[in-house]
Amino acid sequence: MKQAKSKLQKLITLLFSFIGLIFIAFNTHAAVLTSIKPIAFITKAIADNVTETEVLLPDGVSPHTYALKPRDVQNIKSAELMIWISQDMETFLPNILRNIDANKQIELSQLPAINALLYRNETYHDHDHDHDHDHDHDHDHDHDHGNIDYHIWLSPTIAKKIAIAIHDKLLQYYPEKQVILDKNLNDFIFTLTNFEQVIAKNLINVENRRYFVFHDAYGYFERQFGLKNLGSFTINPDIQPGAQKAYHIRQQLVNNNAFCIFKEPQFNPAIIDKVIADTQVHVGTLDPLGMGIPLTKDAYFMFLTNLSEQYQSCLSSN
Ligand SMILES: [Zn+2]
Repeated sequence: MKQAKSKLQKLITLLFSFIGLIFIAFNTHAAVLTSIKPIAFITKAIADNVTETEVLLPDGVSPHTYALKPRDVQNIKSAELMIWISQDMETFLPNILRNIDANKQIELSQLPAINALLYRNETYHDHDHDHDHDHDHDHDHDHDHGNIDYHIWLSPTIAKKIAIAIHDKLLQYYPEKQVILDKNLNDFIFTLTNFEQVIAKNLINVENRRYFVFHDAYGYFERQFGLKNLGSFTINPDIQPGAQKAYHIRQQLVNNNAFCIFKEPQFNPAIIDKVIADTQVHVGTLDPLGMGIPLTKDAYFMFLTNLSEQYQSCLSSN
């Protein structure tokens, strides 16, 4: 009797190991993976009730300087679909994605409908020309690619194209869920169009206030809603400005009568207080990555609303 029980236990253990092996072997993780969170906001709206949406980068981490971790490689390999922007935005992705089936990835900037809307800076408008070599290196990189602005998630117009592309791709994966997918896409575009009108109306009051940003990320949003920045001080928000540059920034603020200067939650240069000391310039915060916003199907609208409120709250100061 005792022997029989132990045999049964062995059999059960064996059975569970076998199930475990099968699980590992067939674990094509049913989740769409996006590089950064705002792209996941759009994806979630379309994939809701169809499949899971996950984000590669940790909350609030900038894609400009990210390096892949071993866990990321695993996540990318097991994702059912990988959505990213460009080899010039997520420079850490092309190497690993070379080994992944092309049908299981979408490089958004390469889609004709989106590529046609990419903004190319004709004249380079960074006002900074000091001799910071790290910085120059980054500029060279951008110049090589015709100075294209890849912060496409900050364009509601492009967000609609992204939503359509995700819808079409998921329809290939889940033809039986067409009704849900169609509804998700229609809801997203309808709601986004309403939000665009509300945001445009709210920002009319501040469109004559001029400001500087630290990170040249907001061009799409600003052009769509009539905001006008005086310039930006860095391309890459992870590079802290030095003392010489701080002096230069201060001169720019004063000479241009800037009303605000915007930092980011992830980027709060220690020099900012010195830079604005004894000036009338207000300090605001813009968050281009939607830090802290929960990943729900309405997240993208919350993200845009937050951003427009961040502009307003500084630009409408007294
Ligand atoms: Zn950026």
